[in-house]
Amino acid sequence: MTQVSESVAQSVAVSSGAAARILVVDDEQYMCDICTRTLRSGSHHVMATTDVTVALSELHQGPPYDLLLADIKMPTMSGLELAQRAREVDPAIAIIIMTGHASLENLHQAVRRGIADFIAKPFELEQLRLAVEQALHKRRLLQDSLRLKAVEQLLHSSEAINATLDRTQLSQIILETARQQTACHAGFLLLRSPEQQLYETLTQPASWRLLDAGYATALRACHAGQTLIIEPEAPLCTDGVQDLSCGLAVPLRAQGDIVGALLLCNEQADALRPGVPEQVTLLANHAGTALRNALLYGELQEAYQRLQEMNRLKSEFIAIASHELRTPLSIVLGYAMMVRDQSEGPRREYAQRVLESANHIKDIVDDMVNLRHLELGETTLNLELCELQELVAQAVNRMLPAAEKKHHELRVELPDEPLTFLVDREKMLLALGNLISNAIKFTPNHGLIVVKGMLQDRDQAPNGIAPVEHPAGDSGDEWVVVQVCDTGIGIPQREQARIFERFYQVADSLTREQGGVGLGLAIVRELVTLQGGIIWLESVERQGSTFSFALPYRTA
Ligand code: ADP
Repeated sequence: MTQVSESVAQSVAVSSGAAARILVVDDEQYMCDICTRTLRSGSHHVMATTDVTVALSELHQGPPYDLLLADIKMPTMSGLELAQRAREVDPAIAIIIMTGHASLENLHQAVRRGIADFIAKPFELEQLRLAVEQALHKRRLLQDSLRLKAVEQLLHSSEAINATLDRTQLSQIILETARQQTACHAGFLLLRSPEQQLYETLTQPASWRLLDAGYATALRACHAGQTLIIEPEAPLCTDGVQDLSCGLAVPLRAQGDIVGALLLCNEQADALRPGVPEQVTLLANHAGTALRNALLYGELQEAYQRLQEMNRLKSEFIAIASHELRTPLSIVLGYAMMVRDQSEGPRREYAQRVLESANHIKDIVDDMVNLRHLELGETTLNLELCELQELVAQAVNRMLPAAEKKHHELRVELPDEPLTFLVDREKMLLALGNLISNAIKFTPNHGLIVVKGMLQDRDQAPNGIAPVEHPAGDSGDEWVVVQVCDTGIGIPQREQARIFERFYQVADSLTREQGGVGLGLAIVRELVTLQGGIIWLESVERQGSTFSFALPYRTA
């Protein structure tokens, strides 16, 4: 088994003017000697043989040769046939055929086989040197063009690889491309589990079965972190009729980690053309990252689906819980009220506490029901002309007892002129009530809470908020802006983006001092957007918060 370096460039390393590896084959020993001496003086590495079998084994097993210099007529095999065999091993190898009788037929055959260079015996040594340099130059050009083709192919496959995030499809593209590149009979794509084990995910063609030796080789390539060229040992895979024992094992890399391996199996050890293992290694590096992305994307999608399901279950739970709580709660409320009204002294006070607590539960249940209706789009808008001053006064009055309990000052700042506009009264009161209630809750005793209302130009949307289109058919360009400002605990910047989400609360619910389930702001946002409005928050920790919403100013 041999390891392959990762760079394609290294596999085709005959740089201009550098010493080349030349194989000389001639059945005449003296010709071998002359050629060797002449070319060695040109600082090339020369190996000469009179035996075609030795030449063939050199071509197949030795380090790659740049040039084959062969006699046309040899006892066991013609030079042209040897040339053809050499081309099968390396399509870019340079070939010069030496001939004593360069007939037209020979020339014709040579051209047909892609052998462009001929040298007629007897030749001058200088002639030989020149022919060799020219042939090596051609080889370099051919190598460049092959390299370009390989890059083009790689580009094609990487386009295909980048085009999908579907894991199965991606695996198929990767394995198919690798099999095409290597012309291997069977291919396997294996992924690495968190326990560093490999598991088979794809086989092409499907009729092949991975054997223990194949699995062990893929594992070895992963551990070595390197592409391995496999020479015949134990069979790697089988289709029940034929076994394959040679090929390539290539680790799939992603950001420095090894995420799996490709195992490409063949019949013969020499079936891989030079440069191919390096090309597959490059492909695998790219493919590994794409595969990891696809795996992560798949996990993300699964997690998202799980989340959706949990969301659905939560909504269902809320629907059932709120529905089931409502009836017993109204009974508790009714009887508690009756007991309170018919009692005196401590008994009345106890009943009053029961009543307050039951009312608190009722608020939570109401929140749940309201949000569910809003989210399901079951809420209808009942627009009517209302006066902002009157709405704010009503909302503030409802909250006065709670504010007084904490000794807050509850101030109102509104235009002197009555501001009348089309709005859903109940929804407006609910939204305002929630914001004022929060301001009271999250402001330490003796705070100041100001409710402001104003008419504002659409372009002057405060705080850089992008103007939002009015609901269809409305061409007004003014907002009714309402703000609830407090001097409370404030909301840290990092929490502000999520504050309007359902069930989101700043402090941990177990450590927080205030009651609530985190639905109020989500309801307010739904109520505001339902009316074509927008909501936003400005807050500084330990200084206070201002919740604002803007509704389109409509009068007809
Ligand atoms: P709840 O009040 O039931 O917890 P809300 O959705 O109304 O739910 O509020 C969510 C969270 O936002 C609150 O738990 C609190 O942490 C924070 N919050 C809301 N209003 C204010 C405010 N005026 N000042 C500080 N924090 C606030």
